[in-house]
Amino acid sequence: MADSKRNKNRCSFCGRSEDEVGLLITGINGYICNFCAMQAYEITQEALGEKNKNGLKPLNLHDLPKPAEIKAFLDQYVIGQDDAKRFLAVSVYNHYKRLLQKDANDDVEIEKSNIIMVGSTGTGKTLLARTIAKLLHVPFTIVDATVLTEAGYVGEDIESILTRLLQVADYNVPEAERGIVFIDEIDKIARKGDNPSITRDVSGEGVQQGLLKLLEGSVVNVPPQGGRKHPEQKMIPVNTKNILFICGGAFDGIEKKIAQRLNTHVVGYNAVRNTASIDKENLMQYIAPQDLKAFGLIPEIIGRLPVLTYLNPLDRAALRAILTEPKNSIIKQYIKLFEMDGVKLMFEDAVYEYIVDKAVEYKLGARGLRSIVETIMMDAMFEVPSAPQKKFLVTLDYAKQQLEKANMARLQNA
Ligand code: ADP
Repeated sequence: MADSKRNKNRCSFCGRSEDEVGLLITGINGYICNFCAMQAYEITQEALGEKNKNGLKPLNLHDLPKPAEIKAFLDQYVIGQDDAKRFLAVSVYNHYKRLLQKDANDDVEIEKSNIIMVGSTGTGKTLLARTIAKLLHVPFTIVDATVLTEAGYVGEDIESILTRLLQVADYNVPEAERGIVFIDEIDKIARKGDNPSITRDVSGEGVQQGLLKLLEGSVVNVPPQGGRKHPEQKMIPVNTKNILFICGGAFDGIEKKIAQRLNTHVVGYNAVRNTASIDKENLMQYIAPQDLKAFGLIPEIIGRLPVLTYLNPLDRAALRAILTEPKNSIIKQYIKLFEMDGVKLMFEDAVYEYIVDKAVEYKLGARGLRSIVETIMMDAMFEVPSAPQKKFLVTLDYAKQQLEKANMARLQNA
């Protein structure tokens, strides 16, 4: 009998035998029963602090990327725009700190600093937002301000901005309440002039007033499915106090407002110092809150977006770099596409210069680079997969011929 007892498999943790437990899992040198496995699971959950009691993933300052690390990460994908990168990196890092402080119940309450980024279309605002999303430790979403209208009008209610955040956070409200929202095209809700309108301005001031409530921090009833298609849906209250808002907009024509301000200032005082040093080619770098006001944002909104930064227009050198340098640059993507067919794709250096020339000529900016490369590569992408060749060299002549052949009018309208 003693022998049979000894021969029975036992849990290496609690010693219970096979017939005393529901399940005995075999390891290399031992066993674990269902009871001990469950207990081990609970211990690991607790020890690793997977989630605290609100179902929140805990943040730990040591594990979070520092501003310099965030910027270095952005550098891999976004060319130039150093100022915007630094501001973004610091804001995101401070956002984490604020969340950590909230848990610690400190006396000095750190207030949030929402950001606004101003820069012409196609200079990388959305790209920055998308890239930073890859390394965030909190829920993040991008929404477009163009669809927003004042409550009661056709379009999305302002609260729907938070619907996407809730969805990203799997409807875990405390998790969504510490997320980050990127509001694109914020300039599209500017009122049409500096003066408050007398008539109703459906897409402008009313929307800004609504948005103000979100930026300030208040409890907002959010439609879980968004829109007004489901009138029966139960609203979810979300507190926006700790949600970080990053706004971006092209603010077309704001350079004129900046120039006007600089001119009046220059006359006003310090005339000699200022006039000479102003870089007239890139006025965006001098952007100040009053320019946003002149453009039609209400002062209250501007006050709630204390961090103001800008993106530089992309010059030739930047466009050339965008073509080949980022980790997933356009050219690298095409090389990959050909590689999947076992074909080595190569470009003559002159081709890159030619593509940049065309992008500048057609005023397509960085957005145009892809359409130009696409047009040049279309025939090759059609033919090469069924051809025997293992190499494909894009020469300057070939690129020119392909681009001229294609209907450039189509590209210009893109
Ligand atoms: P914006 O939001 O400022 O209008 P996007 O970020 O959408 O512009 O940029 C459009 C495209 O142009 C991006 O997908 C990217 O391929 C390219 N691009 C723009 N700016 C940059 C940049 N600074 N670095 C790398 N790529 C860029």
